[in-house]
Amino acid sequence: MNRGIPIIDKERCKGCGLCIANCPKNILTKTEDVNGQGAYYTVCTDESLCIACGACAIMCPDAAIEVIKLAEAV
Ligand code: SF4
Ligand code: SF4
Repeated sequence: MNRGIPIIDKERCKGCGLCIANCPKNILTKTEDVNGQGAYYTVCTDESLCIACGACAIMCPDAAIEVIKLAEAV
């Protein structure tokens, strides 16, 4: 299975929640902290479960997420 790490630029995040709603592994969530633009930004709760599907990065309207692919299944 593919593995990945979602790299979220917290200062670009506006807290819209689209990435959270579209992550098939349900590992994205809003923080209780706000960033510089006053948004409850998103973080990943368990990178070990990320399958590098890229859905979060594709859905983000502010290009705040980059998914690093770590490995592929043989
Ligand atoms: S790449 Fe896929 S599994 Fe990983 S955090 Fe993004 S939506 Fe979730
Ligand atoms: S889709 Fe982008 S802007 Fe919206 S909550 Fe996720 S990282 Fe933030």
